[in-house]
Amino acid sequence: MRGTVQGVGFRPFVHRRATALGLTGWVSNDGEGVLIEVEGDLGSLDHLELDLSSQPPPLARVDAVEASPLPLSGHVGFVIRPTSGSAHVDVPVSADAAPCAACLDELADPANRRFGYPFINCTDCGPRLTIVTDVPYDRPSTTMAAFRMCAPCQREYDDPVDRRFHAQPNACAACGPQLRWRSGSEAVDGPAAVTAAAACLRAGGTIGIKGVGGYHLACDATSSSAVAELRARKRRPAKPLAVMVADEAAARGLVELSLVAAAALTSTQRPVLLAPLRKPAAIDPQVAPGLAELGVMLPSSPLHVLLLGAVDRPLVMTSGNLVDEPIAHDDADALARLGPLVDGLLTHDRVIHVPVDDSVVRVVSADRLQLVRRARGWTPRPLYLPVAADRTVLAVGAQLKSTVALAREHSLVVSQHLGDVENWSTHVSFVRAIEHLSRLARTAPDLVVHDLHPDYPSTAWAARSGLPSLAVQHHHAHIASCLVEHGRSSPVLGIAFDGTGLGTDGTLWGGELLIADLTGFRRVGHLLPVPLPGGDAAVREPWRMALSWLEASIGPDAAARWGASVDDRAPAVLGLVRSGSQPLTSSAGRLFDAVSALLGVRSRVSYEGQAAAELEAVARLGGPGGGAYELPSSEGVLDPRPLLAGLWHGLQRGAPVEQLAADFHVGLSSGVAALAVTVAADAGVDTVALSGGVFQNALLSDLLSASLRAAGLQVLLHEQVPPNDGGISTGQAAIAAASLAAGIAERVHVNPQLA
Ligand code: ZN
Ligand code: ZN
Ligand code: FE
Repeated sequence: MRGTVQGVGFRPFVHRRATALGLTGWVSNDGEGVLIEVEGDLGSLDHLELDLSSQPPPLARVDAVEASPLPLSGHVGFVIRPTSGSAHVDVPVSADAAPCAACLDELADPANRRFGYPFINCTDCGPRLTIVTDVPYDRPSTTMAAFRMCAPCQREYDDPVDRRFHAQPNACAACGPQLRWRSGSEAVDGPAAVTAAAACLRAGGTIGIKGVGGYHLACDATSSSAVAELRARKRRPAKPLAVMVADEAAARGLVELSLVAAAALTSTQRPVLLAPLRKPAAIDPQVAPGLAELGVMLPSSPLHVLLLGAVDRPLVMTSGNLVDEPIAHDDADALARLGPLVDGLLTHDRVIHVPVDDSVVRVVSADRLQLVRRARGWTPRPLYLPVAADRTVLAVGAQLKSTVALAREHSLVVSQHLGDVENWSTHVSFVRAIEHLSRLARTAPDLVVHDLHPDYPSTAWAARSGLPSLAVQHHHAHIASCLVEHGRSSPVLGIAFDGTGLGTDGTLWGGELLIADLTGFRRVGHLLPVPLPGGDAAVREPWRMALSWLEASIGPDAAARWGASVDDRAPAVLGLVRSGSQPLTSSAGRLFDAVSALLGVRSRVSYEGQAAAELEAVARLGGPGGGAYELPSSEGVLDPRPLLAGLWHGLQRGAPVEQLAADFHVGLSSGVAALAVTVAADAGVDTVALSGGVFQNALLSDLLSASLRAAGLQVLLHEQVPPNDGGISTGQAAIAAASLAAGIAERVHVNPQLA
């Protein structure tokens, strides 16, 4: 049986079913899934096969069953065999899972011995990756080793027919972890801690709460003073905050939920779901200012279930960290870092060994979702590599939204989202993630693959590692990550739109059309490069890019006039633009920044992508575009200047910004589609892959894919791998594997262009 069948209680499940049906034989994990050899009468065998594929354990997903007859071996009894050795990357640990229905029933049942116990779990649910210290995955290799099971818990754990058979975090109030509430001099232990924390929240307080993969900061999402206070303390002025609600019905009060979206919201992964905001929503508008969507999630642990029940209102639930720092997971660290920010800490004595942030899923359309941050609930579930790696490959990602990945054979295990690897503390979590992944997979990398950019800390780490290394161009990695998720290795036209990544010509790319497969690429189109005035400052201050584009599109007078209206430093920045000293960039993300600033939507940002996200929200309020805005191309260079000029003249006429923002999206996507159709035909490819952070913009990706499909092209979009830089390690690993297989690893390093 193939699919998600390892580390999800599948073997004990097979054991229980086979034993109940009087069958004999064995079950074991192997490199490709679960292998079962079973003997008995035909009716019972059919029954078993039906049970296994139609009602597998909740965390399992059966993708394929292959069966063939064998001669009788005369097995006695049914046994679980140890995993057979194999070379692929196998992290024999599953992802953390939200409480299952059976555990929730017990949690709420006054007659049950675990009534109200915040650490209830079973074989189907509970913490996994976050508590594992080593392999084999067994209680002594988890942070539950500190708790000795009481006799009733031990009996459950040892009994193959019990639903807690080999549930490593199994515990009860008598033997397991205990809650703790600390607020100034107030100390409450045990179940009353939840009541005390809830009272603090209801009074408008900000608390720290220890979740599955780290601490969250929480406050009452309906109180504007509480939300403002939390924002001030966390130093996060505008970036949207996620909201936790008790159940699906409560979520429906805040956001629009399609069937597909509701399924994701209630899944065992319990991601933050970014869904269209219902207006008016019963939360403070400052939770997600300027945006048309809201991040909602359901309780991800029994503790959250109890807390939401006691507070009885939506709670802001945001990572417990200051801006740009990794999530706090260690108790001493949380006390030091979060203590000064909160009115109380709701914590406990089950140690989080591996910090894992909440995953984030975006609702792109009624029936399409996109994982934009892959972490809790997904990690370390493996992805399938289209071309097998014949050596162990470590991919170290880029710089922002970093992940690392380990690949061997067809198996690719990607780490949880690690954040922006720029400062010391995120660098520490980057190194720890590499070590932990290698330890769990019991393998050491033979090869490290990194970004072409020499200044990324991940590149520097790769150089210091002493391992053979491979440099991969950033946008090639983006497109490869999209190919991985579609199980494809043949050439496509890749459209990679993102912030910036270093190109092979030394300029900063970010609006690229590449004919690419997993072994190489050819740049067949790109946006017109313009100066990026002030490097990183241009990212924080989109008005700088507006000046750069105005200068290029309209001319010096218009640029100077507009600049005078936005910032005193405009003349100096225009000087930079004209100096010829600034790096050139073909970035689509920076073009969105420029338009956002030009239209008066956002000229200074406090989080990455803010200007573009708000521009999209504004554009959704505009009607279908007039189509008067054009993006011509010549020799593969897409020229946004007529488009910018159109917007500029629209502004002079006093056209509504909503309409201009919508027109920009329409003009950009039709211009890009027109070039894409030509270059795809020239190269003889019929498939287009869209990747890069800019494609988190659902309006753009919908418009563009509709145009491409109308022209008869197949479109590959991201669902399971983030389109942003969280997907880079996936693409790097796939390129390394395919390059090794093709024997051209050296060529990729020296010259990434296809011959
Ligand atoms: Zn359970
Ligand atoms: Zn117990
Ligand atoms: Fe990127």
